[in-house]
Amino acid sequence: MSDSQTLQWQALSRDHHLPPFTDYKALNAKGTRIITRGEGVYLWDSEGHKILDAMAGLWCVNLGYGREELVEAATKQMRELPYYNLFFQTAHPPALALAKAIAEIAPEGMNHVFFTGSGSEANDTVLRMVRHYWAIKGQPQKKVVIGRWNGYHGSTIAGASLGGMKAMHEQGDGPIPGIEHIDQPYWFGEGGDLDPEEFGVRVAEQLEQKILEVGEDKVAAFIAEPIQGAGGVIIPPDSYWPKIREILARYDILFIADEVICGFGRTGEWFGSDYYGNAPDLMPIAKGLTSGYLPMGGVVVRDEVVHTLNEGGEFYHGFTYSGHPVAAAVALENIRILREEKIVERVKTKTAPYLQSRWRELVEHPLVGEARGVGMLGALELVKNKKTRERFADPGVGMLCREHCFRNGLVMRAVGDTMIISPPLVINEEQIDELIGKVRLCLDATA
Ligand code: PLP
Repeated sequence: MSDSQTLQWQALSRDHHLPPFTDYKALNAKGTRIITRGEGVYLWDSEGHKILDAMAGLWCVNLGYGREELVEAATKQMRELPYYNLFFQTAHPPALALAKAIAEIAPEGMNHVFFTGSGSEANDTVLRMVRHYWAIKGQPQKKVVIGRWNGYHGSTIAGASLGGMKAMHEQGDGPIPGIEHIDQPYWFGEGGDLDPEEFGVRVAEQLEQKILEVGEDKVAAFIAEPIQGAGGVIIPPDSYWPKIREILARYDILFIADEVICGFGRTGEWFGSDYYGNAPDLMPIAKGLTSGYLPMGGVVVRDEVVHTLNEGGEFYHGFTYSGHPVAAAVALENIRILREEKIVERVKTKTAPYLQSRWRELVEHPLVGEARGVGMLGALELVKNKKTRERFADPGVGMLCREHCFRNGLVMRAVGDTMIISPPLVINEEQIDELIGKVRLCLDATA
C-alpha cells in the first residue's frame, strides 16, 4: 500500500470518524494506524508492516485471522436466512443449535442462553434479568448489584456502571443508582505490605461488609470477571475466590461471572469459572464466542434461575440482533473448531504452560516488577524500583513501551504501566518465542 493511500485513510479518520476510547486531538496530531489484513496470529498495516497481534484484536480473535470455515459458515447462512429475530415466539435453527452447543460446554446446570449483540448488551441483560428474577420471587426490593472498582463490564450506561472504571463514571456522571463497588484483588498495585493470600481474603471480605451495609434483603447479585482483563489482567490471589464463594453461600444473592474475556478457552478451561471452580448463576459471554468474526454476545443462565423466569410472564427485554443467524452460524462453527481441534486442551497442556514459563523469565528485566499470567493471559508491571514496587512518576512509561511495540511489530496493550497480552489461542511455541523476543526489545527500548 502506498504512503499516499495511508495518508488518505488518515484524512478520512480525521475528517469523518470518531473512534472508541480515543483522545481525538492526540490521534489527529499523530495519525491513526490503519490495519488492512490478518492471517493466523499476524496483522499487516497499510504500510506493509507485519505485526504479531498479542491481543487477539480485543481479546477475541481466539482462532486467529483467516479461518475459511468461519467465512464459509457465514456465507452459507447469509444465503439461507440472513436475518430473522427471536422475538414474539419465533426462532431459527442457528440460534437454537448454538444455545445447545454452549450448554454442552458451559458449567454443569447452565443450560439456557439469552442472546445479545455484544458483551455490554449481555451485562445490560443480566442487570435487568436479576432484578426481574427477584421481583418474580416476591422480593422486588432486591435490586442492588455489587461490582468491583476497576472491573470492566462494557460501555453502555449499565455496563459502565457495573464496571468500576472511575474515568468512565466521571464522564457519565457516575454509576446509575442501585450499583455498588468493592475493591479489586490487585495485590501488586494495592496490597501494600500484606502477604498476597492475606490480601486476597481481606478484599474478598469487603463483599460481606458491603452486603451488610446495603442490607441482604436489597442485594440482587455480585458481578465479577474471573480474571479482570481490561483492568490490567488482574489475577486474584489463590485465597480470593474460595472466600468469595464462602460469602456468597451465606447470603441469598446471585453470582454473575462476566466471562466475556475468560470464556471460550482463554484460561485453558472452557470458562474462567471452571478454572477457579466457581459455580455462577449467570455468565455474560461475547468476544471468543465468534472469535470476533461477527459481533455476538449472550448470557448463560443456571437452570434454577430459568425455572423462576418461566413463572414471570413476559420478560420485556431483547435486541433486534439477539441471536443473529449469521453470527450464530459463525459461533457454532467456531465452537466446532475449538472442540474438534482440541484447542482448549492444547492451550491447557502445551502452549499456556510454555507461554507462562517464558513470560515469567521477563521478571529478570530491570523494568519489570512482576510478570504474571494464567492461560493465554499475561501482564508485566513496569516499575522504577523492583523491590519497593515504586512506580514511575505520571505519565509513567506504559505508553512509551506501547510505542516501541508498534515500532517493533507487536500489539501489546498498556493499562497505565501494566503491559498486557491476550494472544490468539492458536499461537504456537515458535510464535511465543517470537513474542517474548519482541517484548524484550520493547522493554530494552523503554528502559
Ligand atoms: N465484559 C468484559 C469482561 C469485557 O472485557 C468487555 C469488553 O472488553 C465487555 C464486557 C464489553 O463487551 P463489548 O465491548 O462487546 O460490549
